[in-house]
Amino acid sequence: MASERWSVRVAKDDAVFAAAHFITYGGGQCEPIHGHNYRVWVEVWGELDENHYVVDFISLKQLLVEITRQLNHRLLLPRDNPWIQVQEREHEVEARFGGRRWVVPRGECVILPVSNTTAELLAKWIASQVRQRLGERLGVEPDRLVVEVEENVGQRARYEWFRGERQV
Ligand SMILES: [Zn+2]
Repeated sequence: MASERWSVRVAKDDAVFAAAHFITYGGGQCEPIHGHNYRVWVEVWGELDENHYVVDFISLKQLLVEITRQLNHRLLLPRDNPWIQVQEREHEVEARFGGRRWVVPRGECVILPVSNTTAELLAKWIASQVRQRLGERLGVEPDRLVVEVEENVGQRARYEWFRGERQV
């Protein structure tokens, strides 16, 4: 018995973002603020449509660039971290960790629905954004979605999402 499946993968030079963050680790320690030049790869698996493609490259590239643009030149803050309190005010956002405090203009940060702004959880968040846009905008329901986020050269996290049962 044979089977086959298709996927497309994009990683464009403009699917990058430069952002600042700090993560907690080791049960309540917190890194100092610092930045990365992140790079993102997306892979979409699914059936071929009437055009004989999974999703067209241009649309996929566009939505990926849109997503990464939201994060570019921002401080990335976790909404759900037990040790970092993030408070939104009219014009600014304040994050606190113990006695440390970061206050930034609203437009210069992004509060993400994650527990920590690790490359792993950024990859998961980006995947959810890609999946939402694929469905809403292009009517594409992938069988599998893979997002990789590189934080530093040679240092990359990978997140995979599957429809239904996990596929091998
Ligand atoms: Zn970092």
